[in-house]
Amino acid sequence: MTRTVVVLGAGPAGLPVAHCLLRRTAKQHPDLRIILVSPHDAFYWKFASVRFVLPGQMGEDKYMFPLADYFASYSSKTFELVIGAAETLDPERNAVGVRVGEELREIEYHTLVVATGSRARDGMPWKEVGTTAQTRAALIKLQTAIRDARSIVVAGAGVTGVEFAGELGSAYAKAGLKDVTLVGTEALPLETRTKDDVRKVTKHELEKLGVKYIGGAKVTTGAKDDKKGKTVVTLTRSDGSTETLTADLVVPTFGVVPNTAFAPEVMRDGPLGYMKQDANLRAPGYENGERIFKSSCPLLS
Ligand SMILES: Cc1cc2nc3c(=O)[nH]c(=O)nc-3n(C[C@H](O)[C@H](O)[C@H](O)COP(=O)(O)OP(=O)(O)OC[C@H]3O[C@@H](n4cnc5c(N)ncnc54)[C@H](O)[C@@H]3O)c2cc1C
Repeated sequence: MTRTVVVLGAGPAGLPVAHCLLRRTAKQHPDLRIILVSPHDAFYWKFASVRFVLPGQMGEDKYMFPLADYFASYSSKTFELVIGAAETLDPERNAVGVRVGEELREIEYHTLVVATGSRARDGMPWKEVGTTAQTRAALIKLQTAIRDARSIVVAGAGVTGVEFAGELGSAYAKAGLKDVTLVGTEALPLETRTKDDVRKVTKHELEKLGVKYIGGAKVTTGAKDDKKGKTVVTLTRSDGSTETLTADLVVPTFGVVPNTAFAPEVMRDGPLGYMKQDANLRAPGYENGERIFKSSCPLLS
């Protein structure tokens, strides 16, 4: 009898899981069939998004790779790529509902791998934004806004914010073409778990690129001032005091939202709704929970 493994998500975690199962496990278990579900038909090399959101920096062929090409060598008996997003999960019936165009296709599984990761806030294309076409549209929108802005505020000084500010500095601020300001909640950029000397060097290197760093503050509002066409940004410090600055463009780089809305609430945890998982990355509390796995990005493990 065929055992179907459904992998939800073709990011840095889901893609290698599907490949590994096809290359290694399927040889010993010819009854396995792998179904990879992805809302987009191209693998998105998000690690470089901080650079390619700048207009004219990289061609799409350097960061979007057609998924079908990677699986062309596998027969349709052992592999299927479904372009669609999971919308429902019924762990009692071992079934997921995947939106494919107008249709909600039900796919039954023997084992489910949840590798749906997270997305950036406000539709920012640091990571995929839905389908390939939606991601492309979000990229063009941001690239155009960056091209047209004379002053840019980068909100959030984590790794993405620092790398993005560095790219902006290198391309524009160093040459005096645009004003670039990075706003972070800490006195120094990057997170507190990063060594202080690394954070100091980061700040110094950004300043060498012409990036101004404002620490100890959060971007709390950004309202368009219609008369000047600029955004008035309010910065709030930890003591509650505020200050404002104006910019043509404010780009949020902070926080991610887990892509778990398809899972029943009982399988989700915490205010953001991450998938619940035990020490073996399995879904706890279900009769068949031993066959639902949460996959993490292997690059980090
Ligand atoms: C700018 C930037 C630079 C980074 N640099 C590094 C680095 O140098 N090294 C490093 O280790 N990490 C880096 N990271 C972090 C890294 O990108 C993440 O850890 C990694 O992407 C997590 O992989 P994932 O596959 O678990 O999730 P994701 O990358 O979030 O992928 C999840 C996939 O699931 C899909 N999906 C979403 N919803 C559904 C659904 N309902 N049904 C089916 N599929 C769905 C998404 O479209 C996506 O393709 C960086 C991140 C960013 C933003």
